[in-house]
Amino acid sequence: MNYKKYLEDQLQTSIEAADHKSVYYALLHLTKELCKEKITNQGTKKIYYISAEFLIGKLLSNNLINLGIYDDIKKLLHENGKSLEEIEEFEPEPSLGNGGLGRLAACFLDSIATLGLPGAGIGLNYHYGLFRQVFENNKQKELKNPWIEKENWLIKTDVHFPVQFGSFTLQASMYDIDIPGYGNGINKLHLFDADSIDESLVTDGIHFNKENIAKNLTLFLYPDDSDKAGHLLRIYQQYFMVCCGAKLILKELKEQNFELTSLPEHVVIQINDTHPSMIIPELIRLLMEQGIGFDTATDLVSRTCAYTNHTILAEALEKWPLDYLNEVVPQLVPIIEKLDAKAKEKYKDESVAIIDSQDRVHMAHMDIHYGFSVNGVAALHTDILKNSELKAFYQIYPEKFNNKTNGITFRRWLMHCNLELSEYISSLIGDSWKKDSSKLEKLLEYQNDTKVLNHFLKIKQKNKQKLCMHLKEKQDLDIDPNSIFDIQIKRLHEYKRQQLNALYAIYKYKQIKSGQLPQRPITMIFGAKAAPAYTLAKDIIHLILCLQKLTLSDPEVSPYLKVIMVENYNVTEASHLIPACDISEQISLASKEASGTGNMKFMLNGAVTLGTMDGANVEICNLVGKDNIYIFGKSSQEVIQLYETSGYHSDQYYDNDPLIQNLVDFIISKEMIRIGDPENLCRLYKDLISKDWFMTLLDLKEYIAVKENVMADYEDRMNWAGKMLINTAKAGYFSSDRTIAEYNRDIWKL
Ligand SMILES: *Cc1c(COP(=O)(O)O)cnc(C)c1O
Repeated sequence: MNYKKYLEDQLQTSIEAADHKSVYYALLHLTKELCKEKITNQGTKKIYYISAEFLIGKLLSNNLINLGIYDDIKKLLHENGKSLEEIEEFEPEPSLGNGGLGRLAACFLDSIATLGLPGAGIGLNYHYGLFRQVFENNKQKELKNPWIEKENWLIKTDVHFPVQFGSFTLQASMYDIDIPGYGNGINKLHLFDADSIDESLVTDGIHFNKENIAKNLTLFLYPDDSDKAGHLLRIYQQYFMVCCGAKLILKELKEQNFELTSLPEHVVIQINDTHPSMIIPELIRLLMEQGIGFDTATDLVSRTCAYTNHTILAEALEKWPLDYLNEVVPQLVPIIEKLDAKAKEKYKDESVAIIDSQDRVHMAHMDIHYGFSVNGVAALHTDILKNSELKAFYQIYPEKFNNKTNGITFRRWLMHCNLELSEYISSLIGDSWKKDSSKLEKLLEYQNDTKVLNHFLKIKQKNKQKLCMHLKEKQDLDIDPNSIFDIQIKRLHEYKRQQLNALYAIYKYKQIKSGQLPQRPITMIFGAKAAPAYTLAKDIIHLILCLQKLTLSDPEVSPYLKVIMVENYNVTEASHLIPACDISEQISLASKEASGTGNMKFMLNGAVTLGTMDGANVEICNLVGKDNIYIFGKSSQEVIQLYETSGYHSDQYYDNDPLIQNLVDFIISKEMIRIGDPENLCRLYKDLISKDWFMTLLDLKEYIAVKENVMADYEDRMNWAGKMLINTAKAGYFSSDRTIAEYNRDIWKL
């Protein structure tokens, strides 16, 4: 195809004369057109990846890369006075996910298509996605994030289903997004939407009438669930998704003239966390409608569904009151009760019941009894599932449990976000690593080559300068490209311990005020959204924003230490931040982070990890060796024991250690109260000294000590560059192509 001609026909003018936004739309059309010409990945068995979240991010560049025309288009635009980077800024970012779990689903779709596997994603078409975060008075404020413009990536289909709820029925329509594989055919992401949605229901920020389901169902991802109406809305959303998904799957089976009883031979459904778990009873219900008996239907569905567990935080494992289900989806309740009775018949142990003594339905338990595979997302996480969290289930079904360490797509997280490093790597070792990421290990030949190491440093420096320009433009922040970039970006949660990092900022601030200056300036960068109803998380954001104000406005401090918080952390921000990072903060309380995938993105881009032995950090550590990662903190075993024995008391750490006391007290010091809101700061302070459920103070001293070592080691630039190179070279294992090949080998068997 003549791209220039196509674009100019679209634009009705030359590329040069057109404005950026129009060029973006023309490229959108071109990409959609090229996808149409691609073959769909075929096979006799298909994987349906069903998930409440697909954090796909912007699609233009990723699709151009996967279609193999990124370089051509970039060049064409350049020759006509435009830059692809500038044009991309006009693409709205769909925020159809929350964090790691949703981003994982997006990376998986990319890899499924890239490996040429027949597959599809099934999810919801949230009009406003997750909220857009802005800062006001050093606090998070939530706004809606519209992303569906008149011209967009969605393709309207002629697939429509009725979805029956307790007291009414909604009409659902399916919209598709093409997922081109890298050098391979395409798959689809199917997003279902209710025809009756009314966007005008949203008035102030993200507030809306939670009871008007017909109008609000797919407005937001994770609407506030701090009350009953919020809980019900989530169940409505979940059932809407699984009902449409199940109907689509059976429709496709039928269209290929396969018998319903051959379901497990032709279909495998991967249930991403418990949000889609109701697909199990829903499929059983639909099969029974077609005349199949309960036992046979249950057997068919059980051999079709596989479940991925993403967390061991008890509060995140969904348990819906039976009453709520009766209100929203009464048709599923008798099936769930039968499934429960059948399980109770075999296993008396109350801890493995689907319906507990308080009449709550444990969604994960249903998945484990009635799915054929249960996987954790990193080696440590799977071990914890087997040995503590889901031990009773592991004893019943040892053969179901398996590990699939998460991964990331290198197309987005290296080739796109760090083109220069990507090209430099290819100039050294060829580009076979793009299809086989293990080939990155060839870089190890250069680990003592000063010319190569210097070039790694040079690219990092350029990326840091680019980030400086970006933050200047976006938030009017002035940061020093020669400082150390220490970055913690991820959802805000107490277990991820942004508060621990903030206490280090206080430590450094106090040192600087007392005249102990760091060898090199430090820029501490945070990015995080807090769930709108999560009070302590918002208090931690407030603390960080106050520290930003404090460090930036003090001329004694700001030349040496700046605390920065990027607004509205999302996929686009991540791709600006990650290539510029020196130190990757992965400091969750050991045993709490199932895997992490941010850690992998940073490593791939040559950042060195400062972290605990948690999630995939353990595997990173094994790969790069102790000399190329900085580990601190109590082990997962020690932490699990502390919980079991109630052995952790934060007040003891506070009372018995003057340094800890000094740092924590600073949260409510006059300097801080002058800037911030005493209510938020006091609440956080009190929580830290009286509760501290995620054991911040436990690891604080060791964290500070190890972080000081990192800063000192950074000064030996050649040695540091060696660590960078080894991290990139060893990151091949974390390609989602490897993860998906393993899912296919062990679970899907396509
Ligand atoms: C990768 C990614 C995450 C996950 O980060 P973790 O550090 O693993 O929690 C969250 N949000 C976005 C936007 C991401 O790209």
